[in-house]
Amino acid sequence: MRITMIGTGYVGLVSGVCFSEFGFDVTCVDKDQAKIAALQRGEVPIYEPGLAELMVKNADRLTFTTDLPGAVENADVIFIAVGTPTRRGDGEADLSYVYAAAREVGEAMRSGSVVVIKSTVVVGTCREVRRIIEETAPNKEFSVASNPEFLREGAAIEDFLRPDRVVVGVEDERGEQVLKALYRPLNLRQTPIVFTSLENAEITKYAANAFLAMKISFINEIADLCETVGGNVQDIARGIGLDNRIGPKFLHPGPGYGGSCFPKDTRALAATARRLGSPIRLVETTIAVNEERMRSIPDRVIAAHGGSVEGKTIAVLGIAFKPNTDDIREAPSLTAIPALQAAGATIRAHDPQAAEAAKPLLPDVTWCNSPYAAAEGADGLVIMTEWNEYRALNLATLSRTMRGNVLIDLRNIYPPEEVAPHAFNYHSVGRKPHT
Ligand code: NAD
Repeated sequence: MRITMIGTGYVGLVSGVCFSEFGFDVTCVDKDQAKIAALQRGEVPIYEPGLAELMVKNADRLTFTTDLPGAVENADVIFIAVGTPTRRGDGEADLSYVYAAAREVGEAMRSGSVVVIKSTVVVGTCREVRRIIEETAPNKEFSVASNPEFLREGAAIEDFLRPDRVVVGVEDERGEQVLKALYRPLNLRQTPIVFTSLENAEITKYAANAFLAMKISFINEIADLCETVGGNVQDIARGIGLDNRIGPKFLHPGPGYGGSCFPKDTRALAATARRLGSPIRLVETTIAVNEERMRSIPDRVIAAHGGSVEGKTIAVLGIAFKPNTDDIREAPSLTAIPALQAAGATIRAHDPQAAEAAKPLLPDVTWCNSPYAAAEGADGLVIMTEWNEYRALNLATLSRTMRGNVLIDLRNIYPPEEVAPHAFNYHSVGRKPHT
């Protein structure tokens, strides 16, 4: 079976490479010529652990091109994995890239193809894709399927090759058989594959992301309560997380969820549901809580510096919205840093992978090539992202080379008792300072 993957971003590239690892011939298409040229040279345009190695290993089965018609006309299965960003103005998903790709697919594909929507799309989109292709190519016969992607950036290869489950929405037998064949390599691991309707698959993806985002906002509010009463959110997260009905994951408080999915997907679900007359108030509140949380981070940093950062130098460790990725879309650092600059702070920053992407968006930041270089001479240090290399910093060195002693650990990566001997003015999230 020949697969064509339209959209070679975080999802399309990982999916395409992983399908080649399953043994299929895959053609990856993108409109971005620079991206395709890099891929043709064997360079990986994003940072995703394990991806480069897998690309080299399966080079014989992988083709990269900007020629969409050429790639589509020879394909048995065509995946659409283009972006679905927030639409300006109303918070709904901008589906124009999906619909544009569908039109191009309709023109070029041959009869009998299966078109699979991998992008995260709101309920009804797959039906609209069918209508667009029928309009574009009235005499061609085809199937539409929905196969939302649940991979996490930073662990994307592992998630694709060893997923908890695969969700597939189909409208006919051909779609079901083709998707079954594509995911047959997962049978060995007895991975559950949920076959359902197109609409159910579309909603499943949003429901999953909204639920996870809700867990994060929930624990952030519990952390606030802990700060008010002198509690410890980590003990509480453990206390509730050991209940199998709740589970321990996504119960880590922090600066608010960012990234390329949770903010836009919660917004799209809330806006679409409200438009359809079935508002989901829990999700609307999750969004409001998260936006408020992100806005409050600079105030938290300013308060830790005694109420003003005017003339102070602050080191920020971690720009990416989470570790192991260079993705900075809607990262909390992107709102916190300009707000601190506006309050008079000078920012020195470090990120192991995301600095290049962040430079154009964060002017007047001094970029440093190590966390220690960033901390040198700083009044305060803020840990924004829990990269592994920030987890075992030499606190004695930091406290010696910093000018001030404010340490703000927005990811709770240090036990307060470990920090206590180092004379830091230590602030974490939802935990009493250790005195
Ligand atoms: P991305 O922005 O990284 O990549 C999208 C790519 O599609 C871009 O390279 C763009 O040039 C290309 N493109 C757009 N229109 C095209 C066209 N007509 N022909 C060829 N190429 C075209 O996006 P992403 O992060 O990979 O996300 C893609 C989809 O997957 C979104 O719907 C997203 O919500 C969903 N998703 C993302 C993640 C994630 O972690 N990033 C996880 C699960 C699902």
